[in-house]
Amino acid sequence: MLITGGAGFIGSHYVRSLLAGRYRGYEDARVTVLDKLTYAGTLTNLPPSGPRLAFVRGDICDHGLLMDLLPGHDAVVHFAAESHVDRSIAGSAPFVTTNVTGTHTLLDCCVRTGVSRFVHVSTDEVYGSVEQGSSSEDSPLEPNSPYAASKAAADLIVRAFHRTHGLWTTITRCANNYGPHQFPEKVIPLFVTHLLEGRNVPLYGDGMHMREWLHVDDHCRAVQLVLESGRAGAVYNVAGGTELTNRDLTRLLLGEFGAGWDRVDHVTDRPGHDRRYALNAERIRTELGFEPGIPFERGLPETVRWYRDNRDWWEPLLGRAAGPAPARPAAPAG
Ligand code: NAD
Repeated sequence: MLITGGAGFIGSHYVRSLLAGRYRGYEDARVTVLDKLTYAGTLTNLPPSGPRLAFVRGDICDHGLLMDLLPGHDAVVHFAAESHVDRSIAGSAPFVTTNVTGTHTLLDCCVRTGVSRFVHVSTDEVYGSVEQGSSSEDSPLEPNSPYAASKAAADLIVRAFHRTHGLWTTITRCANNYGPHQFPEKVIPLFVTHLLEGRNVPLYGDGMHMREWLHVDDHCRAVQLVLESGRAGAVYNVAGGTELTNRDLTRLLLGEFGAGWDRVDHVTDRPGHDRRYALNAERIRTELGFEPGIPFERGLPETVRWYRDNRDWWEPLLGRAAGPAPARPAAPAG
């Protein structure tokens, strides 16, 4: 299996799960991780290479590299992306390059080399803000940030490669993930690391933006289920977690530290900030039997504990957040 973006947050969780034999039938699967190791990727997310794991540092936009690498791989699970909304506001070019051109390059090389399965990991953000009700897989794509637009564009190219070239593809569109190993620019690890450092946390606007949270382990199980049993060409929303406003999330995190609301700095809202994402995830439940397994009441304190216990993982990352966004962006959900 070729796993792109496998040294980032979600991709590395998927790889560690595979290597730990947690997906039945895949206990012997051999894994190649292809990752550019941008600011968001770190080898400290992966076990050392061994008989079942090979790591290749490279870019999904590199056609020649992919044509050399892909033969012999049965499946591609595609996590690699520029993934942070605030960075896409500060500078969107890498988002279009990696998320659109990179996905296209991968698809093209998969067709040319006869890869038999391609799972594209997308996001609920492609549907845009949903004031009421929920987005089904057939809802229109109305992305509002350059990040979401680049993911939506990639989704459409995946669809076209299935329809035009007959490539076996599936797309997952998941709600916000949380869990260990998430880069400390995203809201939960940003707030947790700020609180651990004795700093205040930055809350956007009125804090009433609504997000649904799913543990990364549940998302990865869903990706695996879709890889094994998904319908060719189908899209699967992945959700069923906990819906919270950013204010409520902040209150829960402050509670984990016994801290009060005086630790919150209210900061100017993000431009184009979607008020609410909400997914209808009936399809993956009824077709594939997916149910989330980790309740937020358990997953959140466990995640906070992980950051408390693993300073040596996140402290070195604080300094490497170079690029268009400020080093420690005031950056809630995305
Ligand atoms: P992440 O930023 O932690 O990891 C992305 C990885 O991709 C990094 O290791 C990075 O080095 C690598 N990468 C970036 N550009 C690359 C390139 N050109 N070539 C090769 N590798 C490259 O992101 P994440 O949160 O783990 O997200 C993984 C995927 O899941 C993304 O596609 C994202 O859109 C999607 N997703 C994320 C969430 C979430 O809440 N984090 C929710 C739904 C969907």
